[in-house]
Amino acid sequence: MKNLITLLSIITMMTACSNSKKEKADLVIINGRVLTIDKENPMAEAIAIKGEKIIAVGTTRNISGMIAKGTTEVVDASGRLVIPGFNDAHLHFGPLDPDYIELRYTTDPSVITEKVRMQVAKSKPGQLIMGGHWVHELFIDKNWPSRELIDNVSPDNPVLLDRADGHSTLVNTYVLKMSGITRETKDPFGGEIQRNPVTGEPTGILKDAAMDLIKTGNAIITRSPDEEKERTWQGYKLAMKEACELGVTSIQNAGGADFNAYERLRQEGFLTSRIDIGAPLTGNSGVLNQYKEQEKKYPKDGNWIRFGYLKAFADGSIGSSTALMFDPYSDDTSNSGLAMWPYEELEKMILTADKMGFQIGIHAIGDKANNWILNAYEKAIGVNGKRDSRHRDEHTQTLQLSDIPRFAKLGVIPSMQPTHCISDKLFYEKRVGIERCKGTYAWRSLLNEGAQLAFGTDYQVEPLNPMEGLYAAVSRKDRLGEEGEGWFPEQKLTMEEAIKYYTLGSAYAQFMEDRKGMIKTGYLADIVIVDKDLLTIPEDQIMKTKVDYTITGGRIVYSSGR
Ligand SMILES: [Zn+2]
Repeated sequence: MKNLITLLSIITMMTACSNSKKEKADLVIINGRVLTIDKENPMAEAIAIKGEKIIAVGTTRNISGMIAKGTTEVVDASGRLVIPGFNDAHLHFGPLDPDYIELRYTTDPSVITEKVRMQVAKSKPGQLIMGGHWVHELFIDKNWPSRELIDNVSPDNPVLLDRADGHSTLVNTYVLKMSGITRETKDPFGGEIQRNPVTGEPTGILKDAAMDLIKTGNAIITRSPDEEKERTWQGYKLAMKEACELGVTSIQNAGGADFNAYERLRQEGFLTSRIDIGAPLTGNSGVLNQYKEQEKKYPKDGNWIRFGYLKAFADGSIGSSTALMFDPYSDDTSNSGLAMWPYEELEKMILTADKMGFQIGIHAIGDKANNWILNAYEKAIGVNGKRDSRHRDEHTQTLQLSDIPRFAKLGVIPSMQPTHCISDKLFYEKRVGIERCKGTYAWRSLLNEGAQLAFGTDYQVEPLNPMEGLYAAVSRKDRLGEEGEGWFPEQKLTMEEAIKYYTLGSAYAQFMEDRKGMIKTGYLADIVIVDKDLLTIPEDQIMKTKVDYTITGGRIVYSSGR
C-alpha cells in the first residue's frame, strides 16, 4: 500500500512537472483583447500557436509559460483587439493591374502627384496612365482635385484617375487637349465638365456623361507573351498583398479561377489567403464528372486551395432594374426584371448537381429570384433526399417576408454583402418601394428565423476592406455617416455578430467551421490584430480602423510596424 502511494505521488509529481514544462509555441500573442467568436470561451488575452494551428488560448500569464527563449516569436498586442482572420464568402478575386495607381484612402493630394510622377517615369510617352479610387471628402482640404495636381509630372502622357464611385474622373491637360475639351465645350446631357468658377477653364474633373468625351490618343503598348505572363504574375502577388494588408485570410471566389496560378503562389510562399475556387453550374453530367476530378485534386478537407461551389445567376441587379421581382418596379411599372434561366432549366441543373453531391450557390437579388431558388433547393431535398448540402443564396437581397423562415428550414445559406446595402439603399426605395424594402438585406430577420449568415464583399464591385462591411452591418448608413438611426435600423447587427458572420459564418458556408473562424485550440491560426477596439469605438471610427497584424496558418503575413 505504501508503495502504491509512493508510486501515485511520483506520477502526480511527474504530471505537475510536465505541466510546468508546457509545450513550447512557435508564436504567441500576449496582452490582447481577444474576441474568439468561440461561445464557450468568448474573450481571452493570449494565444499560443505551433505550426499552422492554435495550441492554447488563455491569459497572458498562462500563455507566457509556452514561450521558449530565443525560438518563440512574441507579438505583444498591447491591449489591442485580436479577432479571427476575415473570410470573404463572395468575391471576384484575380490579378490586379500592376500599373494601376491605387489612390484609395488618400488623404494628402500631393501623394497623387508623386504616384503619377513615378508611374510616368516607368512609361513611354503617350502611354495611358490609369488609377483611381480617390474620394476628395477624405482629402485634408476636402476640395476636388484638379489637373494642376498632375500636369507638371505628366506633360507627354494621358492620365485618368477615377473617383472611387466611378462617376467622375480627374484627367490632365494632355487628355483635355486630345479630347478637344475647352472652356467653350458645352456640358453633354447627363454630364458635367467641372470649371474653375473664376476663369471658366475646365478643372480636369469630368462627371458621368462628360467622361464619354475622353480621348487618350492611340499609343498602343505591345508586350511579348513573356512580358504579359510576368505582368499577370505580379498582378496576382499584388492582389494577395492587398488581401493580407486588409486582414482577409480566406477568400471564396464566386465562379472559376486559375488553379495553377494559386498553386504557384502557394509554392513560392505568396499564398497568404486560403482560397476556394468555384465553377459554373451545369446540368451536363460530363462536365460535372470533370468537376468531380478537380474536386479530388482540391478536396474539401484541404485547407489552402479547394474546389468551391457551383455558381449560376438567377437574375440581374436592382441598380439596373434587372433583378427578377414578383411585381413590377415602382419606378418602371412595365418591368419586373429578367430571369437568366427559365425556372425549369434552373431546377434541372440544381437537381442534377445536387444529386452528385455538389454545393451550389445561386446569385439571387429580386424577391422572385430568391423564391425560385428556395423552391428549387426544396425540390432537390424532395427528390434527392435531405443531406448537409449547405446550398447558398448569393446576395439574398430582396425577400418576400414569407420566404425568410425557409432558409433555416431548408439549410440554405444567405451569403450576403453588407456594403451592398449601404451602396444600394440610395436607390432601393425608389426602385421597389418601401414595402418590399422590409425584406431587403434582412439580416436580423434571417437570424431571428435561425438562418446561418455568411458575409463577404462582392469585390471588385465593392472594396475588399472588411471594415466597410462591419460598418455597413452595424450602421446601415452611407459611408459619409448620415444622421439618424440608419436604413431600416431594425435589421442592424451588433459588431460582435458582424465579425462572427464575417469569420465563423463564412467558414460554415464552406464546411470549415470545425477548423476555421474561431480562435480556439486546434483551429487554424488565422488571426488579425486591429488598431482600434471595434467593440467600443463610435461608428465613425470603424472604417478608419486598420489592420496591424495578419497571421495566416501561424505565419505573420503582414505587419504594419505599429
Ligand atoms: Zn458577385
